[in-house]
Amino acid sequence: MKTIGYAASDAHTPLAPFHFDRRDLRADDVAIEILYCGVCHSDLHQTRSDWEGTLYPCVPGHEIVGRVTEVGSDVTRHKIGDRVAVGCMVDSCGHCDQCLKHEEQFCREGVTYTYNGHDRIDGSVTLGGYSKHVVVQQHFVLSIPDALDIAKAAPLLCAGITTYSPLRTWNVGPGSRVGVIGLGGLGHMAVKLAAGLGAEVTVISRTDAKSADAAALGADHYLVSGDADAMASAASSFDLIIDTVPVRHDLMPYVPLLDIDATLVIVGQVGAMDEFSTIPMLMGRRRVTGSPIGGIAETQEMLDFCAKKDILPDCEMIAIQDINQAFERMERADVRYRFVIDMASLTA
Ligand code: NAP
Ligand code: ZN
Repeated sequence: MKTIGYAASDAHTPLAPFHFDRRDLRADDVAIEILYCGVCHSDLHQTRSDWEGTLYPCVPGHEIVGRVTEVGSDVTRHKIGDRVAVGCMVDSCGHCDQCLKHEEQFCREGVTYTYNGHDRIDGSVTLGGYSKHVVVQQHFVLSIPDALDIAKAAPLLCAGITTYSPLRTWNVGPGSRVGVIGLGGLGHMAVKLAAGLGAEVTVISRTDAKSADAAALGADHYLVSGDADAMASAASSFDLIIDTVPVRHDLMPYVPLLDIDATLVIVGQVGAMDEFSTIPMLMGRRRVTGSPIGGIAETQEMLDFCAKKDILPDCEMIAIQDINQAFERMERADVRYRFVIDMASLTA
């Protein structure tokens, strides 16, 4: 199938139109016309090769929603016309202990990412959602509940599940005290989801510029990370902190905010961090850990939870021609709170 997308041809050149083919349907494949795709900070990291190993041309995009246009002969989970979604993964081995536990993100053979991965059957490089069409194995295609506005649902597929998964892993619910560092795409979903689960939520941001937004998103408190007095007053007051900061940074201001036995989970920076002392960890048996996206079953659970609780991302709709400007704005943290590409703007 011929299609069109936007691709980066190297780490320094702006994204530009790119014509390519999607594979013919295998028996368990679903063909999707992409209607919307969210813009994740990971797309920026990957196209600029911040993590090295980017395969060019790179079509980013792993917050995909659309409609089924065709199904393979063995497909039972979806039918033509269904509203569906695809997140960060498009395949895994399907038989290791992690896949059998519905934690495909930890597949022992390595999960296949939606872009910058290798197809498990033909070895071709996977290309993502900044495009008109995609073909995905049925197990990795989610259903969008009727109650969710399809134009706003896309960011749930990465920003949503990446923050929902640690909230569920650490049993957040009524009475939990949750901190969210960095109010961007992931951060604003962390606030909405933690509030939706009944937690008491604090946004921890660099400046006070987003305090009104934080309250509107459902946060109960707001902490400016540069305010030493406020940070000292907040010591030992959190059960879980989700750190969404997208760059290398110093954890030392944040770890003492955890209560005894509490957990700081890094979901933002992928790579080196500043050196930090073990003292606040030893003295409070505090934990620092990380978490990648979430499994397919948990992603569907998150979509159903959002439908039930009427939780949707705050989206700024853009045309695909504006993607390079959107990347620049995202780098300046000038997005409230997720860009979503309206794929109707992408014409051959
Ligand atoms: P984003 O929308 O750009 O938000 C990041 C937020 O972090 C900003 O709004 C800002 O919040 C804060 N920030 C930005 N630059 C900073 C700096 N230099 N120092 C301190 N704080 C800074 O990004 P996103 O899409 O939420 O993604 C965040 C990170 O998560 C990225 O690195 C992305 O690759 C990663 N990610 C990981 C996973 C995973 O599976 N773990 C999944 C998706 C994304 P304030 O203005 O409030 O300070
Ligand atoms: Zn992402």
